[in-house]
Amino acid sequence: MHTSTPPRQAVVVLDPGHNGGNASAAAAINRHVPAGRGRTKPCNTTGTSTDAGYPEHAFNFDVAQRTGRILSAEGIRVVFTRDADDEVGPCVDERAAIGNAAEADAVVSIHADGAAAGARGFHVAYSAPPLNTAQGQPARRLADALVSGLADAGFPVADYIGAAGLSARDDLAGLNLSERPAALVECGNMRNATEAAAMSTPEGRQRYAEAIAAGTLDFLGR
Ligand code: ZN
Repeated sequence: MHTSTPPRQAVVVLDPGHNGGNASAAAAINRHVPAGRGRTKPCNTTGTSTDAGYPEHAFNFDVAQRTGRILSAEGIRVVFTRDADDEVGPCVDERAAIGNAAEADAVVSIHADGAAAGARGFHVAYSAPPLNTAQGQPARRLADALVSGLADAGFPVADYIGAAGLSARDDLAGLNLSERPAALVECGNMRNATEAAAMSTPEGRQRYAEAIAAGTLDFLGR
């Protein structure tokens, strides 16, 4: 009798940066936690906002939810590092631990940047130099796939940081502490009027989500 093991369901951890309760919980989010490479960092930060006051944590949360719906519809098991936008944390080291515990095939952190008003574009950060095998070629392939997903959707690469949409970082705790392929997407600059306008509409956030999902699916070979 022939038996076969069903293929393991792919797991993607989506990590929307920051949280809506952070701003009123300074003591909790300023507490230092391990950040990798022998360093520590504050548990979490408040993030940035558009000039009109639309906060990054809300943008990140909505884009992650939208991305999760697309991936779930493709049969992927989606795990979020936070399920609400009015709570505190989790700390950056806890976020990495969630990806590790889920044995994620890909971990995608979702952020937006706050740079000079004239700067624009997305960039994707990855851990460098890598601290384990997953942070090497797999994380680079994930970062490349996310860059392609965003570029193919018409988003411009950052003109103020990184190179061709990629940014090698040794200081991002979530990436340093990941034992799974992980990358952090900075979707654009919330202080740039054009990008802020797109980020502030549901339609704009859906476009970011579709681009992130496309890159993630490409990385997974789907
Ligand atoms: Zn952020």
